[in-house]
Amino acid sequence: MKIVLLGAPGSGKGTQAARITAEFGIPAISTGDMLRENMRKGTELGLKAKAFMDGGNLVPDDIILEMVGERLKQPDCANGFLFDGFPRTIPQAEALEKVAALDCALLLDVPDKFIEERMTGRRVCPKCGRTYHVTNIPPKVAGICDDCGTELAQRDDDRPETVRARLRVYHDQTEPLVDFYKGRGILKVVDGRQELDVAAAEISALLRSLK
Ligand SMILES: [Zn+2]
Repeated sequence: MKIVLLGAPGSGKGTQAARITAEFGIPAISTGDMLRENMRKGTELGLKAKAFMDGGNLVPDDIILEMVGERLKQPDCANGFLFDGFPRTIPQAEALEKVAALDCALLLDVPDKFIEERMTGRRVCPKCGRTYHVTNIPPKVAGICDDCGTELAQRDDDRPETVRARLRVYHDQTEPLVDFYKGRGILKVVDGRQELDVAAAEISALLRSLK
């Protein structure tokens, strides 16, 4: 099963990625992990990438794609793989299809408004780390941790302006990819507003039907 997973930050993509990889026995490949691994091992590609990063530059596509090619030759990819956060651009998507025939580009679709509510409502206890949501999982006393009585806080990542900025970046990057994979006939869309278990069951059935 060769999958590219698409979805906004806050769409529940990480959770679904973990379920898919466990169910189908395939690795989740993130280019960030791949870069770190190559740099840690001091591979030729890792050293090249490091030179760009040390200079404050993005690692160019050709290096990333060469790493992807190497990564896909590893034995754990024998049954397939799942990409999360890659490709980010059409040139990357075009290059990826030269090294692997994807079975599916799976979009976990969640409207922005829903993601904004889900993320901006999150609160965390700075002392014990317990998480809440102002409407979905409220503490017994508003703004106070049930466990330790500490005043709850909002993570910087969950602030409305941060969430909206990340959603804008996501749409700019991802919408062309959605069209690209639709054109290839391999785009599948799952409603990410559903409960995680319900969405997971739908994804499982959908992927099994492709086999
Ligand atoms: Zn607490």
